[in-house]
Amino acid sequence: MQQLQAVLQSMRAFFDSGTMSPYAFRKKQLLNLKEAVLKYTNEISTALYSDMKKSPEEAYATETGLLIAELNTSLENLHSWMKPKSASTNLVNLPSSSKIYRDPLGVVLIIAPWNYPLQLSLIPLVGAICGGNCAVVKPSELAPATAAIIEKILIETFPPAYVRVIQGDGADLIPAMMKAFRFDHVFYTGSIPVGKSIYQMAAADLIPVTLELGGKSPVIIENDANLEVAARRVALGKYTNAGQTCIAPDYVLVHKDVKEKFISYLKKSISKFYTNDASSSYDYGKIINTRRFDKLISYLDQGKLLYGGQHNRDTLFIAPSIMDEVLLDSPLMKEEIFGPILPVFGYDSFDEAFSIVQQNPNPLAFYLFTNNSQVEKKWIRKLHFGSGCINNSVWQFGNHNLPFGGVGNSGMGAYHGKFSFETFTHAKSVMKTPVWFDPSIKYPSFKGKLRLFKNLFR
Ligand code: NAD
Repeated sequence: MQQLQAVLQSMRAFFDSGTMSPYAFRKKQLLNLKEAVLKYTNEISTALYSDMKKSPEEAYATETGLLIAELNTSLENLHSWMKPKSASTNLVNLPSSSKIYRDPLGVVLIIAPWNYPLQLSLIPLVGAICGGNCAVVKPSELAPATAAIIEKILIETFPPAYVRVIQGDGADLIPAMMKAFRFDHVFYTGSIPVGKSIYQMAAADLIPVTLELGGKSPVIIENDANLEVAARRVALGKYTNAGQTCIAPDYVLVHKDVKEKFISYLKKSISKFYTNDASSSYDYGKIINTRRFDKLISYLDQGKLLYGGQHNRDTLFIAPSIMDEVLLDSPLMKEEIFGPILPVFGYDSFDEAFSIVQQNPNPLAFYLFTNNSQVEKKWIRKLHFGSGCINNSVWQFGNHNLPFGGVGNSGMGAYHGKFSFETFTHAKSVMKTPVWFDPSIKYPSFKGKLRLFKNLFR
């Protein structure tokens, strides 16, 4: 740890030197990272296959491509993001002028999970670079091949005092590191329990955090929805990466009138995407490890299996599965499933569906399939959730013009595009006041000025 502490101190010194402050420096780093990611695209793809059984196409669409898009949008916009922004000045402060500067935060820590191990490590890093920070990146030890290629890319691309990778078991490494060194921001993506412990550790030193957590993300299918399209889009969102996506549909609430029809379309979509034997599908992934595999298999007993259920512990395969007759107080409906098992429930009314969703408040994502804009407005107004889609699932993540993040139980803070830049900078407000106008009303004695103040402070 002493050696690591010295490394972190050298990062602090590098930050204090101000080297990364100019736009030209940050732009160059983004270009260097882009060049390295393009150079190693095939190796990244091989690593993602080894860790998660992602096909090269899926690896590109859900990891490398998203990272490249984030780099491109940052390269296009960084100059304008960095410019100080004028703000208006209120009556009491006239004739001052007001500006907002975006200050780098310092040395930031980025902690990533294993399910999208490349982009969840490096998209936050793009934000940290844009903000003019030094960054320590901690990839997940559970995706070791991707962690290794991340390390190779970052070592080749950046000076060690600027961007540094640390590898190992987060449960040992991170508490020790956060004790030994005061980071200026911690950007954490992962599970709720670990998120809480990161928050506690950060609180001791008043370190700001971004917490990108998980939870149970519901899908609502109204009786006026296009069921065939809904089934296809739910199937894609749910079974991509074998259900190990933080914003994947966790369970479906479908109007009772259309439940059977929706389920039959869902089955058709699954067999169309992954054939009738997903174990040999080019497009179907595997479960990360036996611990998660065993947990997921235990869910299969908690209701009636309508589809799928086949599994193989040696290959970490669990077929895309649909379940019915699941009890609302079973673990399957209390825990984030994070695997290819989809419980489906029928409902009659908005209130019934809403109360089921509220069993697990503040979902990370929410998906509604309907043609009725009044229903759409009602759900959006009443439910607090991180992000979502109407008549789609999961794709909101890929729009870097939208902030991505949770609320309440599903996290705090947001990122992607301009929102990453804001997360990784401090909005520093500065008001400039001319000296030629200095009315005595602003100075004591204030006696008798109450009416005037009431007019000024409006
Ligand atoms: P995890 O919390 O187990 O691990 C995430 C990271 O934290 C890893 O790098 C790990 O080494 C580190 N870590 C583990 N234990 C730690 C501890 N005690 N102290 C400090 N660090 C520790 O999460 P995971 O299993 O890798 O990821 C799955 C979870 O992440 C799911 O809940 C999923 O919903 C969530 N997730 C959220 C998002 C999002 O953007 N909101 C994205 C992907 C995954």
